[in-house]
Amino acid sequence: MYRFYVADASNEYHYAELCRVFLSEDEFEIITIDRLPEQDLLGRGSYVLGANTSDRDGIKRELYKLLNDLTGMSPEWGTLTGVRPLKPALEILNKFGSIETMKYELYCRYLLAESKQNLLAEIAEYQTAHVIDNGPDYISIYTGIPFCPTRCEYCSFASNVAGPDAIDRYLRDLFREIEFTGALYKEEPKDIESIYIGGGTPTTLSTLQLGSLIDKISQSFNINPSEIEFTVEAGRPDTITEEKLIALRDKGVRRISINPQSMKDETMSIIGRNHSADDIRRAFAQAKEVGFDVINADLIAGLPEESPEDFKNSLDEIISLGAENITVHTLSVKRGSRLHENDPEYYRRDIERVAAMLDYSRMKLKECGYYPYYIYRQKHQMGAFENVGYCLEGKHSIYNIRIMEDRQSIIALGAGGVGKIYYPDEDRIERVANVSNYEIYSERFDEMLERKNQYFGG
Ligand code: SF4
Repeated sequence: MYRFYVADASNEYHYAELCRVFLSEDEFEIITIDRLPEQDLLGRGSYVLGANTSDRDGIKRELYKLLNDLTGMSPEWGTLTGVRPLKPALEILNKFGSIETMKYELYCRYLLAESKQNLLAEIAEYQTAHVIDNGPDYISIYTGIPFCPTRCEYCSFASNVAGPDAIDRYLRDLFREIEFTGALYKEEPKDIESIYIGGGTPTTLSTLQLGSLIDKISQSFNINPSEIEFTVEAGRPDTITEEKLIALRDKGVRRISINPQSMKDETMSIIGRNHSADDIRRAFAQAKEVGFDVINADLIAGLPEESPEDFKNSLDEIISLGAENITVHTLSVKRGSRLHENDPEYYRRDIERVAAMLDYSRMKLKECGYYPYYIYRQKHQMGAFENVGYCLEGKHSIYNIRIMEDRQSIIALGAGGVGKIYYPDEDRIERVANVSNYEIYSERFDEMLERKNQYFGG
C-alpha cells in the first residue's frame, strides 16, 4: 500500500483519479493533512506531495513522476484524467493562437505524450476549419429510448430488455414529456441545432412507434427533421429492418448509427449480443440502399478475447462497408456492467493489445481519408485511453461536438436523459437529469415535468 500525503484536501479527488491510472483501488491511499510531515520521517511506501508547490497541476506532475518511478508505467495522457481532454487544449489554443504552442503547453502543464498532443492538435484543427462557433446561441435536443434486445456484457447504461406493453407505457409518458417541454419551448423559442435519439437502442421500437416519435418531436418543437442535423441511433443490427429504415428516411432523418462493436461472430456471443456479423453486413447494405447522408459505426478496442488482428479485420470491413463516421471506443469496464462484476480488474490488463488496436485505427483511418473530430474519455477505460470519433470531411456530427464542448443548452427527454443549461455569462453548465430507470421515470413523472418547468419555463 502506498500512502501519499498532501496538504490540499480540495483536490483529493483529482490526485486519487491519477493514482487509479497506475494502481488499483487497494494499492494506494491519499492522506490530506494540514501540516505535511518531513519525508525523512516517513516509512517505506509513504510520500509527501506538494512540499514545494500548492498548485494542483504542479502536485499532479510530481505525483505522475513518482508513480512512474514506482510502477514503470508512462500513461500517454500524462496528468490529464478528465472526460474532455480537448477542453484544456482549446483553452490554450485560444489564448496563444498557435498549435505548436498548444502542444508545448500540453506537455509542460500535463506531461502529455507526443502522440496525444498530435491527436488533440488534429481534432482542434478539424473543428477550427469545419465547425461554426455558434454553440451558445442554439440548443440541441436528446431523446432516450432505454430498451435493447439483450444486455451487453460491458453495458452500464440504463438499458432494459422489456416487452411491448412496458414499451407502450413508456412511450405514452415520453410523448407527454415531449409535448409539455415543447409547449415551454414555444413560449421562448431558440434555434435548434441538432436532435439526437439515442438509448438503449431506439430501433427496438416498431416502425409505427418510431414514426410517431419523430412526428411528436417535430410538431412539439416546430422543426422539419430534414432541415437540421437529426440522428437516430439504430445501434444493433438485430433491430434494424428495411421498413424502419425507409420510415426514418421518409420522416427526414439523414443520419443513423449502426454499431457493430466488432465484426467477429465469436465476440458477439461473448459480449451477449444475439446477432452475427452477417446481420451487420445486411443492415449496412439496406441502409446504403435506402440512402442516408451519414452512417456512423461504433467499434470497441479491447473486447474480451479479441486480438489486434481481429480488431484490424473489423475496422477494415467497416471502412469497406462505407461508414462515413467511425467512432473507435476503448473498452470501459464500469460498475453496473456484468463484465465489472465478473472481472473488475479486466481493464487493467493487456494494455499493449489495446494500444496496438488504437495505433492501427489512427493510421488506417487517416490513410482512408478520415479525420479525428471529437474525443472523450471514461472511467475504467483500458489503459486510460480514449474514445475518438472519426469522419470523412464535412460528415462530422455537430451533436457529438456540442455535447463535449459544454457550451450549449441541451434538452434531454426520457429516462436516462441528462440535459444541460448553459449560462454563457458565467461559462457554466447546470445538469438537468431525468431518472435513469424507465419504471421509476413513469412513477416520478410529475417530478420530471416540474424540473423541466423550473429550468426551461419562462
Ligand atoms: S446496445 Fe448499448 S445500451 Fe444496449 S445493452 Fe448494449 S451497450 Fe447497453
